[in-house]
Amino acid sequence: MRAALTSDLAIREAYQADVSGLRMVPEAVARPASEAEAVDVLREAQAAGTAVTAAGAQSSTTAASITDRGILLSMRAYHGIVDVDPIARTARVRAGTLVADVKQAVAPLGLTWAPDPTSEHESTVGGAIACNASGARTYRYGPTRAHVGALRVALADGRVVEFHRPTIEKNAAGYGLAQDPVDWFIGSEGTLAVVLEAELRLMPRPTEVVGLALPFADEALALRFIGAAREARDVAPRCLEYFDGAALDIARSCEQVDLPAPAGSTLVYTEQACVTPSALDAWLALAEGHGAAAGDVAVFEGESAIAHARAMRHAVPAALNERGASLRGTGGRRVSTDWAVPFGRLEEAIAAARAIAARFGVPPAVTYGHAGNGHPHQNYLARDAREVATMERVVEETLRTVIAMGGTIAAEHGIGKLKRRWLPLQMSSLQIAVMRAVKRELDPTGLLAPGNIF
Ligand SMILES: Cc1cc2nc3c(=O)[nH]c(=O)nc-3n(C[C@H](O)[C@H](O)[C@H](O)COP(=O)(O)OP(=O)(O)OC[C@H]3O[C@@H](n4cnc5c(N)ncnc54)[C@H](O)[C@@H]3O)c2cc1C
Repeated sequence: MRAALTSDLAIREAYQADVSGLRMVPEAVARPASEAEAVDVLREAQAAGTAVTAAGAQSSTTAASITDRGILLSMRAYHGIVDVDPIARTARVRAGTLVADVKQAVAPLGLTWAPDPTSEHESTVGGAIACNASGARTYRYGPTRAHVGALRVALADGRVVEFHRPTIEKNAAGYGLAQDPVDWFIGSEGTLAVVLEAELRLMPRPTEVVGLALPFADEALALRFIGAAREARDVAPRCLEYFDGAALDIARSCEQVDLPAPAGSTLVYTEQACVTPSALDAWLALAEGHGAAAGDVAVFEGESAIAHARAMRHAVPAALNERGASLRGTGGRRVSTDWAVPFGRLEEAIAAARAIAARFGVPPAVTYGHAGNGHPHQNYLARDAREVATMERVVEETLRTVIAMGGTIAAEHGIGKLKRRWLPLQMSSLQIAVMRAVKRELDPTGLLAPGNIF
């Protein structure tokens, strides 16, 4: 089993980066291809008092999947679909399977797995579960948590345990937080256990889907349209994504998508499944009624057109990641946010973030993303360490503001190492102590993913 473990420098360096912009070279790398190998690594690490940080595809934006302490346990080689039950609509998959590969495997059965992080081609099921990842379509279908039925995990000492969600409709036995152990691990960022396998809850794959790209002259019009689409009864969006002018410029420059939006405008991208001609008319009427540039609306019909539109959406964070990485040589990087607010406060929150940036002399962030859930991403590009520090002060002030609005500092990317200092802004010391108590019980020696969350 030792074959799974190496301290070769070139291999360790190959695992030193995720998408946070930070670098941490692990002391060793383990790449188990079986459950037995993964368990062996954990047992030996426990005996030696060595830390173990699980990693999937390392697309984390928060430095959650890199470490310079102990073993980086890459689960990428432990992949594959174990079985699919089309009647029960479940798929049992290994942790290292890519999210997009799950979807591809079950599509011929007329099924899909709902979670759709923009990074679905570069994100594993284990990583999506450990971060409780979301995506554009979370607007309609909910985050990863809603689509996991059972988990097989290895605890810190190598014990393998399997948990299934209760199927009862009522339960008054004990504390709520203990009733469904599957929930302990979803969003735990590798700190409580290593996910080995998951039973995913599938849903029928919509066959007729339409995407609409709707240009608006400014941000206020676009955000008000999103508010109207949330309320309208004759449309049923499965996502409501927003691009400000800067994000739109990036999408335009990176992809060959025929984007109708005139220069200087903003854009709302939405999708609806099972769309009828009257629903399409309703979308266009709603958009026109809210000031969309009606002549410039683009319609994406069918899966391949939708995939093209999604490529445009993916191009924005991907390009910003690349631009951030190119600033590494001068000590700079991308500084990004993952905050969300109740939808009613979204316009105010974005305006507040812009005002805070202006006060610090920082150019406005590129703003895009899951506005339908009150969850835009904001990205700043820092050219050197001094700018990183200034932009992090902008982010911290923004987070204080969004928390005062009832928001969160991390809606889908988790806390990792980059955001842990801000967690106490949102969570009381009592909440953090309860999380620590759970951690102590499951990982008494604190060897799993040190530095993540806490
Ligand atoms: C271009 C781009 C777009 C993105 N868009 C989205 C988006 O729309 N929505 C979204 O939610 N996120 C998004 N992300 C962030 C990221 O892709 C997701 O969080 C993703 O789910 C992480 O999966 P991963 O396999 O890369 O995990 P990693 O980055 O390898 O790990 C992430 C966390 O999971 C833990 N982990 C990984 N595997 C296991 C395991 N088997 N057991 C226990 N813990 C484990 C790690 O310790 C770490 O804490 C994006 C990232 C990029 C680069």
